[in-house]
Amino acid sequence: MDNKVSHLRKTTDVIKKHQFSFKKSLGQNFLVDENILKKIVSAAALTPNSGVIEIGPGAGALTQFLAEQADKVVAFEIDQRLKPILAETLKDKANVKVYYEDILKADLKQVIEKEFTKNDDIMVVANLPYYVTTPILMKLLTDQLPIRGIVVMIQKEVADRLEAKPGEKSYGSLSIAVQYLSDPKVVMTVPKTVFIPQPNVDSSVIRLNIREQKKVNVEDEDFFFKVVRASFAQRRKTLMNNLLNNLFTKEKKEALNNVMSEINIDPKRRGETLSIEEFAKLSDALMKIK
Ligand code: SAM
Repeated sequence: MDNKVSHLRKTTDVIKKHQFSFKKSLGQNFLVDENILKKIVSAAALTPNSGVIEIGPGAGALTQFLAEQADKVVAFEIDQRLKPILAETLKDKANVKVYYEDILKADLKQVIEKEFTKNDDIMVVANLPYYVTTPILMKLLTDQLPIRGIVVMIQKEVADRLEAKPGEKSYGSLSIAVQYLSDPKVVMTVPKTVFIPQPNVDSSVIRLNIREQKKVNVEDEDFFFKVVRASFAQRRKTLMNNLLNNLFTKEKKEALNNVMSEINIDPKRRGETLSIEEFAKLSDALMKIK
């Protein structure tokens, strides 16, 4: 008999049987739509040699599909109460290992080295807990992991920010940080109705292909991100005002004007109009007056 937990009936049955109650504070909205689960897995383009890291397996709906397509799945689940449920739903999936711990505290480099010795392709695939979307993505992108990419379901509003281009309403420091390290593409938008319980917001599935080389070269990465964050500190202010209020002292106004005119960036522009390449040029040029 089909042991798939992706049907509403199956999920509610297994939850009732184990007297499980959803915790909103842990972002527990379980997917109960087989079509969408299959599309998430297909967006990851897994091969029989792929290793997958899943974050938050919940009742195991996505895990079951991943285990069928990949060589091995290593999942991180913070909620110990899901142990008996996952033991049941994953009982015939010998290629799945669940770590019951907070993904934000995990040493992923070490886990990858230990668990994926045979796998030359590693993907992260998840229906993420929405309360920690940004810290999880930033950890995955900045820990220098040997992964090909990330396919995740997240809030539509955050997905729009990750993919946004200069001049768009959602464009900001998160778009730049993510696009500096990866190439993000929204795969599909997903209605609230495919989850139990239903979340308050619409969702999107996004794929982040990790760049082999960062999108731009900068002399000092920390300073580059300081310039970016300062430039977006108050969206309605000009670059000059934001840089003076958040990164430089007032005495640097003339020097700032000179540097920006040398590189042809108008200090009256707003941060949201600058491309990543322009931010790189700006931060390299500002190095000499910092
Ligand atoms: N994958 C399941 C699905 O698609 O139906 C459940 C997804 S649900 C949106 C998010 C899951 O992440 C929950 O099972 C929750 O307990 C787990 N979770 C929340 N915070 C976590 C954290 N910091 N580390 C690991 N898992 C976490």
